Amino acid sequence: MAGLVTLVLSVAMILDPIDQFGWLIQSNLANRDPSGEIVYVGVDQDIADPLHPQRRRELARLITRLERAGADKLFFNLRIEQPAEDPGADRQLNAALREFGDRATVTVRNATDFVGDSEAYPSVKTITNGLRSAVAQEDYSYLGFTWSMQYTSLVEGRLLPSLPVAMAEADVLPNGSFPVSYIFDIDQIGSYRSTELMQKSNEYLSRSFAGKTVLLGPSWGSDEQTAKIPGYQNVASSFVAILAAETLRADLFVSVGPWVGFGATFLLLILVVGISMNESHRHLGYVAISVVLLGLFLVGTALGARISVGSSVLILMIYAAARLRVKWQQKFALVDQLTKLPTFRALLRDLSETKKRLPLIVAEIHGFQAVLQALPPTRHKDYILRLVDRLALAEDQKVIYANDSRHFAWLSTDTEVDAIREHLEGLRSLFSQPLVLDGTKIDVGITFGVEVSEHPSPSVRIATAMNAVEKTSEAHEFIVFDGADIRPTDMWELSLRARIDAALEREEIFVVYQPQIDLAEGRIIGLEALVRWDDPEKGAISPAYFVEQCEKAGRMDHLTRHVLDRAVADLAQLTTIGIDIRMSVNISATLLSGNAVIDMVQNAVDKHEVKANRVCLEITETAKIPNMDRALLILERLSSQGFRLALDDFGVGEANVENLYRLPFDEMKIDKLFTRDLATQKNRAILQSLVALGREAGMEVIAEGIESRQTLQFLKQIGCSLGQGYYLSYPLHLRQVVEYIDHAKMANDNHS
Ligand code: C2E
Ligand code: MG
Ligand code: MG
Repeated sequence: MAGLVTLVLSVAMILDPIDQFGWLIQSNLANRDPSGEIVYVGVDQDIADPLHPQRRRELARLITRLERAGADKLFFNLRIEQPAEDPGADRQLNAALREFGDRATVTVRNATDFVGDSEAYPSVKTITNGLRSAVAQEDYSYLGFTWSMQYTSLVEGRLLPSLPVAMAEADVLPNGSFPVSYIFDIDQIGSYRSTELMQKSNEYLSRSFAGKTVLLGPSWGSDEQTAKIPGYQNVASSFVAILAAETLRADLFVSVGPWVGFGATFLLLILVVGISMNESHRHLGYVAISVVLLGLFLVGTALGARISVGSSVLILMIYAAARLRVKWQQKFALVDQLTKLPTFRALLRDLSETKKRLPLIVAEIHGFQAVLQALPPTRHKDYILRLVDRLALAEDQKVIYANDSRHFAWLSTDTEVDAIREHLEGLRSLFSQPLVLDGTKIDVGITFGVEVSEHPSPSVRIATAMNAVEKTSEAHEFIVFDGADIRPTDMWELSLRARIDAALEREEIFVVYQPQIDLAEGRIIGLEALVRWDDPEKGAISPAYFVEQCEKAGRMDHLTRHVLDRAVADLAQLTTIGIDIRMSVNISATLLSGNAVIDMVQNAVDKHEVKANRVCLEITETAKIPNMDRALLILERLSSQGFRLALDDFGVGEANVENLYRLPFDEMKIDKLFTRDLATQKNRAILQSLVALGREAGMEVIAEGIESRQTLQFLKQIGCSLGQGYYLSYPLHLRQVVEYIDHAKMANDNHS
């Protein structure tokens, strides 16, 4: 489009001023030495005045002296339209000129008006008689510069060469015009005043004029005879003729017309637009185009070529204007071109139309640039659409707005900070699954900025949400609330959850083991793996707290895999040193929703070559069993693979008789709530019946939280077979476990 418009405008001559401007710059940049063969003598007396014949005689004498001094040629570029009142003076001038023979030329002034009609103003016949003629053509561009001159002109029926052509001694006289170059250093052109020369000695004249071509013209200062050349406002118009002659002599005919600039620029633009993959490539391309064009301009200038830049400049300007328009339209468009989702602009409109103040969420997709670089451009759209699909899946029924394909926004239907957080955590775990495109897995990170202010201005709200999402980072805080006072514990919880991944990696999360004891024999039969988090900032964080956070963040499987691997590895190590016990690992019931957990446990025992029946899975938080039938299938499967199953925390929360009734547990763990206080008969009765219930249902019963000798005694009495508690042993590091077992063995040996 830019090319077309430029074509039309060039026909309309709109380019001319820009071209001229370029030529002016070229003229000022370059400074060539002229040939030095052409010198100028300014006649500073008004010899056109017929009442002063004396001036014509004096000039005749100077001409004679110049001829004697060895001047090669003489060009008489003075207009004398009236004969002197003393005709002898004109004859004397003619005679002086004729001493040069055919080396002297007189000029005929020829002016062309706007309509194109030209009129000749020949000098007095008496003076010009028997001499060669040339045309002093006067036509200026409307900026006042003479950019080109005719080779020849038809004057009163005779075809005459123009003055510069005659001075340059061009033999062939082509039709048309030639460009006048102003790249010469005008100060190097010899220039004299006639009255001064008349005082000079013959030696001076021969030194200055021998072998030179002399142009005799009106002196500067007389208005009619001044011209404008680049860099100079007022010079004698003869200088234009001299520079034109120098142009011809130097063979500076190369004129780079508008078509060349047009073609070059057009091709470069097409090239850049064609090969650019993205915006930043394109910007580089623009820079490259500018550099190339500027370089060509400078090189051309140095070589003396006249370059017309108008078409290049215009095409670039039109292109830039068109691009800006597109950008502007995109910015203010209501529909995103790629995703066809409404834009943030539409969000702005929608926000101002609704009265409901729902929290505004902005999601940012991370690693977006890297993905775009890794994928071929043709797949970018697919990638973004897949992202949108995922969002749409989670944000069912809601309008999602898109901005620059990297930011998405929607209005939350949850209004509570906790509920929003929970929802976004779910979304994040959905996004933690890599996207598969063309068989390549692409990791997608997502963070959220939530705006919960009551601010009335929609643009402030959007800005607040954008600002919030700016502050998020994948590793540390993936949700940032902004606009209302957020409880500090909330913030701490949020950051805690985000740090779990990092902690797992850095092994700040580790496992300790609490011995499980056969109460009757006082012998250690197993260990329970308990996870610990030693946070560098907060110190030890209780699993009772962060396990829940982990669950919320959708990181439970990560954590469990980590603990399982550690615990089973340590179990294998204990076995090799002859300690034959079993290992209990806590498995959150939230994991009983898919088969992944089956593989996870099986892989752990396979990897460390441990028998499945050495591993007991303590199912915790049974209240959170997502689907009872499914959980049953999974547990039966695990059981059939030989794993031991325990119902943890029996008696509290939802770890109730129903679970015991429906699911295939081998072991029942009575919660520490029931062992804590055995002072009353009621409490003792309850504990006793719980133990009886488990035993009679055919399960092994283990009591948690044994903190005293009395409790231990009572449990033994009522026939509880296994126990665990601080009285027996605190959770221990692996090394301490070995010491503990050695110690217990020794005590036992001594006893027996
Ligand atoms: P739990 O499975 O019931 O584990 C027993 C908890 O009681 C442990 O707390 C243990 O240190 C504590 N305990 C042991 N003996 C005594 C005692 O005599 N008195 C008292 N007051 N407490 C005692 P911990 O280690 O803080 O773990 C808390 C809960 O965190 C566990 O309860 C379990 O539900 C969960 N958990 C721990 N590790 C994991 C894990 O790796 N995965 C999962 N999913 N949950 C875990
Ligand atoms: Mg447990
Ligand atoms: Mg428990």
